[in-house]
Amino acid sequence: ADRAAPFAFDNSYARLPERFYARVQPTRPPAPRLLLLNADLARELGADPALLASEQGARWLSGAELPPGAEPLAMAYAGHQFGHFVPQLGDGRAILLGEVIDRAGVRQDLQLKGAGRTPFSRMGDGLAALGPVLREFIVSEAMHAMGVPTTRALAAAATGAVVRRERPLPGAVLTRVAEGHVRVGTFQFFAAQGDHEAVRTLLDHVVARNFPHLAQAPNRARAALDEAVARQARLVAQWMALGFIHGVMNTDNMHVGGQTIDYGPCAFMDGFRADRVFSSIDHAGRYAWNQQPRAAHWNLSRLAGALARSIDPDEDRAIASAQEAIDAFPDLFAAAWREAFAPKLGLDAAAPEAEALIDGALRLLGGEETDFTLFFRRLCLAAEGDAAPVRALFRDPRPLDDWLGRWRAALEAGRVAPEEAARRMRAANPAVIPRNHRVEQAIAAAEAGDLAPAERLIAALRRPFDEPAPEHADLAAPPAPAEEVRVTY
Ligand code: AMP
Ligand code: MG
Ligand code: MG
Repeated sequence: ADRAAPFAFDNSYARLPERFYARVQPTRPPAPRLLLLNADLARELGADPALLASEQGARWLSGAELPPGAEPLAMAYAGHQFGHFVPQLGDGRAILLGEVIDRAGVRQDLQLKGAGRTPFSRMGDGLAALGPVLREFIVSEAMHAMGVPTTRALAAAATGAVVRRERPLPGAVLTRVAEGHVRVGTFQFFAAQGDHEAVRTLLDHVVARNFPHLAQAPNRARAALDEAVARQARLVAQWMALGFIHGVMNTDNMHVGGQTIDYGPCAFMDGFRADRVFSSIDHAGRYAWNQQPRAAHWNLSRLAGALARSIDPDEDRAIASAQEAIDAFPDLFAAAWREAFAPKLGLDAAAPEAEALIDGALRLLGGEETDFTLFFRRLCLAAEGDAAPVRALFRDPRPLDDWLGRWRAALEAGRVAPEEAARRMRAANPAVIPRNHRVEQAIAAAEAGDLAPAERLIAALRRPFDEPAPEHADLAAPPAPAEEVRVTY
């Protein structure tokens, strides 16, 4: 292999028919400079972190130069944005460099986000500002560390260009790593044009890549739909169990393989409210915390519609089969919800009291907008017999006391030893999450030239379930009232 080539590319998407994408070149940045490099992920991708950290590496990771073997392209896709269908969206500010097989044998996309205009940019500039690049880096890596399927961040590079938003901002490029970038909207793009051959080609690609165990399924379209439904149900339940709000669950932002993708105005809640919304553009609360299962279900119905013809050539049978796949979502979600939340209480998902206790806990939190993360973390101490820290989170602890009594009875009924319950709970209830105010502080510092707060936050988020070291204890604390972030962009 070429010693100067950082990645061993094998670009399967670039081998698909030309109508799947547009071939593009990244825009040359005026002054490329590497800001953050994920050395562990580089190694997983078979790349030498020292090479990527070099001046040459900064050129590759900013779009200044193409790494050997890259075949840059912008993917075509459509999507429902807040319920309205847009027949052509596509990568307007993202360029797929190519694919590499990682050390686990999984094919990974390397994509530059913010590397300039493409034929899909419409009115946009194809650029990304430093803030959103850092937010995606921090939050996606935290999600990964918390065990949630997600795209990942290999690097953040400054471009030296000015990006014009409400104010001029420093430009940056994120190198995103994903198990493909096929979205529900990619299937919609072809289905809306009646290009069923392309739908089937795309399906073959997704099965080979994301659902290899379905290669021999008798009806691959139906099997892939079932799998997408099941993965999405689990994913949204995992998000909700962390207090995560995606923010823009449009069909172009839903990954068919079940990874969290497109970190825009996302947020982790501090004080709990079931209908919490952060996104500045989500006026109707369509993608509020508690609306996410409904949104996923709706999006999956759009996927079913796009796949129907491939499920069965007979229209009536196709619709009946697609409907059956979609109708499985509520039960799959309910099961995934118990699987995600029961361990937060130290309970088995099958415990008869689990569901009522989860509902009860969320009602308690909603009553006083108690900090979601801190409640579950302090509940670990209550499992070991010290309820004072969790009680201190409530102005009126009486409803909590009643709930704690029922919870302890459930642990006893399940014969879960206190230490075992606490152990399970600490593995499900992170101490450190990417709290909005800390992310915003890290961004503000980076804009002023200081990356240390971002690096410190990223380091703490690598071990979210460990009690933070004393010098990182502030990262586990909720915001002071004046620090609280209520809107994300
Ligand atoms: P998003 O809201 O990030 O999911 O993006 C929705 C659509 O707008 C996608 O087609 C993006 O590629 C496109 N887009 C978003 N921001 C920009 C930008 N700055 N320049 C060009 N296209 C963009
Ligand atoms: Mg995009
Ligand atoms: Mg998007």
